[in-house]
Amino acid sequence: MKYLDKVRAELEAPREQRMFGSGWISGSIGLLAGIVGFVMVLILRNPQLTSVPQLAAVHQGWLFKPVLYFVLISGFVLAALSLVLRRDKTLGGAAMVATLLATMIGSLATEHHIKVEGIFFGLDFFVLNVLFTGLLFIPVERIFARYKDQSVFRDEWREDLFYYLVSSLFVQILTFLTLAPSNFVIGHQELATVRGWARGLPWVVQLIAIMLLTDFAQYWLHRAFHRVPFLWGFHAVHHSAKSMDWMAGARMHFLEIIVLRSVTATPALIIGFDESALQAYMLIVYVSSTFIHSNVGTHFGFLEKILVFPRFHHWHHGIEKEAVDVNFAIHFPFLDRLFGTHHLPDGKWPNGYGIPDHPVPKGYWKQLLYPFRKRAA
Ligand SMILES: [Zn+2]
Ligand SMILES: [Zn+2]
Repeated sequence: MKYLDKVRAELEAPREQRMFGSGWISGSIGLLAGIVGFVMVLILRNPQLTSVPQLAAVHQGWLFKPVLYFVLISGFVLAALSLVLRRDKTLGGAAMVATLLATMIGSLATEHHIKVEGIFFGLDFFVLNVLFTGLLFIPVERIFARYKDQSVFRDEWREDLFYYLVSSLFVQILTFLTLAPSNFVIGHQELATVRGWARGLPWVVQLIAIMLLTDFAQYWLHRAFHRVPFLWGFHAVHHSAKSMDWMAGARMHFLEIIVLRSVTATPALIIGFDESALQAYMLIVYVSSTFIHSNVGTHFGFLEKILVFPRFHHWHHGIEKEAVDVNFAIHFPFLDRLFGTHHLPDGKWPNGYGIPDHPVPKGYWKQLLYPFRKRAA
């Protein structure tokens, strides 16, 4: 455990020790490559155990192995580079160990096929999730940062990464649970005409209609999560983030995810839009909810009146009085204008994030219990 603490201290090293040429960049990317390579090897060796069926094509495809080799080779080269450049060998050493371990396991001769019927842990989805989101948002946040001094490894980054892990790991179970209420409704025949009409609309119109319906439901549910004390205990976890970036949005109580996804998806599912439009929406909501929490300080001019951008949702997370109970929408700011909760002062950003006095404890498991303990107290 001591060694892991040292690795963490190195990742969180002060800015002047992270400069180009200090071996920090090569060390931390090398370590990431080592870990990703390690997980990819596990997926390759135990496909039944680790994968979502829909993604099987990805790691059984011709590209998976070349990508794995590339990841392992770059992990090795970057680890070596960091070991040369950096006086403290912790980061380079950890990157080297992870890469070599992955290579060793990958080159063992036997192929295991452990069959686990029904349950898929979606380890590959997790890797894709974190990897793609990270690859997309880390450079974007470097270039367009609102808070230039904020590191990827800011305070509580491990907690938020763990939130990412949990929601991605149980993506199958979560999808099933969240769609269960609407599956129940869909069984009714009376809606056939409505469904036929909805599916006949142009695809883009369907997509916008899904966004509108979902955000409308989301607006009122979100408002209830703020106003009803018992519900606030759950939602307070999401608002406990003190820094905003691409990882911060993942912080959400497990039960809130289930309620939020099932309630907001229900109107669109009852009407029954085209499956591809619904899938496209899932992708949009995933990317946009990461984006609106991200550390991106760009102003988007008149577009900010039409769609939700980071500044709008950052105000929702603002710690100051004027930011309390404003900006509930996640796609269309006009909903907040319509219902009197809109707050977007020209060119201004909140002074800080979180809840005054920070009542929510740190750590995933304490936050999971927080709403129940709060109620008992
Ligand atoms: Zn909220
Ligand atoms: Zn948020």
